[in-house]
Amino acid sequence: MKIVRELLPYFDERPNGVKVKTLVIHCSAQSAREMIEVLRKRELSAHYIIDFDGTVYQLVSEQKRAWHAGQSKWRKMDMLNRYSVGIELSSTTLGQSAYQPAQIKSLIKLSRQIIRHYQIPVTNVVAHSDIAPTRKPDPGIAFPWEYLAYKGVGAWYDLADAAKVAENDVATLLKTIGYDTVDLPAASYAFCRHFAPTAVAEDDDVYHLVENVYPKNFVLSKEYLPILKAVAYKYGNNF
Ligand SMILES: [Zn+2]
Repeated sequence: MKIVRELLPYFDERPNGVKVKTLVIHCSAQSAREMIEVLRKRELSAHYIIDFDGTVYQLVSEQKRAWHAGQSKWRKMDMLNRYSVGIELSSTTLGQSAYQPAQIKSLIKLSRQIIRHYQIPVTNVVAHSDIAPTRKPDPGIAFPWEYLAYKGVGAWYDLADAAKVAENDVATLLKTIGYDTVDLPAASYAFCRHFAPTAVAEDDDVYHLVENVYPKNFVLSKEYLPILKAVAYKYGNNF
């Protein structure tokens, strides 16, 4: 895999003794080159960007803390930049239409190396939307989570497991998976983006989408409860 180094100065040290244990997936609406310019202007970064043609750009050394996640929570972790490697993908629709096969191929290769190197649990391969559900919609409803899980990158669910989970309210099940449920509509919507994308409305205006990440009154409909329970089973058993 060809990796182009375009190192940015926007990083700092990970806190002492903190280990990488999550992989955060993002997307942005620009090509890799354009995204690098945007990051320079905003003084932000990610460890990697994967361009439309699958070319991987490295912006920050994995040892350093890149600035990609912002305010974020997953399970017992907050401010996930400390604990994570962040990968951006170019997507003109912000992940609402299929990613390029070459991008997914590079992403799988790169992610597998990172996961193996840091022994990242499959349940800690997360979307930016999973860890910042009120603020972020990326990498979007078209991101192929199930396929990636099949390739060893992240976890998926088995509907048959739903029956093994006791009846519980939506917030408890979301917490079992790892979501911060302080804003329950946001957490529920983020769950759908990842595991039940048919529950998420497409938004063909990416500018509107980034300003309107979730419907403020969103309630997970009953038809998705079996998926929620099956995911809670899978994630709850992999803490
Ligand atoms: Zn992001």
